[in-house]
Amino acid sequence: MKDLLNIKYWLFDLDNTLYSGDTKVFDQVDKRMSKYISSKLNVSIDEAKKIQKNYFHEYNTTLNGMIKNHEIDAQEFLDFVHDIDLEFLKNDKGLELELSKIKDKKIIFTNGSRAHAENVTKRIGINKLFDGIFDIVDSDFIPKPAIKTYKRLIDKYKIEPQYCIFIEDIARNLKPAHELGMKTVWIKNNEPWAAKYSNENFINYRTPNLTTFLKEINELRKN
Ligand SMILES: [Mg+2]
Repeated sequence: MKDLLNIKYWLFDLDNTLYSGDTKVFDQVDKRMSKYISSKLNVSIDEAKKIQKNYFHEYNTTLNGMIKNHEIDAQEFLDFVHDIDLEFLKNDKGLELELSKIKDKKIIFTNGSRAHAENVTKRIGINKLFDGIFDIVDSDFIPKPAIKTYKRLIDKYKIEPQYCIFIEDIARNLKPAHELGMKTVWIKNNEPWAAKYSNENFINYRTPNLTTFLKEINELRKN
């Protein structure tokens, strides 16, 4: 991990990275998406789920598929799908501690909305620890893994990619980061579509847990 001593910029994905996928928070978003599609396109929930999956795989976000094919109002979609119950998402003191030790620039990079990122990080107790949130609106609705969006983020926050690290649970989203010269960390998980490509060379580190990973780096930096 010595190659991480000179890192100056940190990019964190939000969902299933800053909190565990075991919390099933994203399952709720998933269900809200099906509901939105079902009512908007006037199809059954089952049919809506199929459309949702197809769009996700073809366009990298369901939202993008809905914009391209049905010209929906993106903000309306985002507000609807992120209107979920975060009650069971608990304060994460361990993560808060490790993040607070990192004095470099820290940015959340998500294909979701800013409001969702704010709600989630508030629940976890880490909302004050970031220098920015780069959401799907900042991405001009072009989601990860489009390299264009990574370049946009780099420009906005004046990031030097060779001193930057990106941490994500969806393996394929790490590829453009690596191509731009960043270090990459994959949060291990068993979601087939998120784990696909997780054995590829564009991933520098694999960890079961973000806090553990940050703790290791913080220990290393101390010495
Ligand atoms: Mg994620």
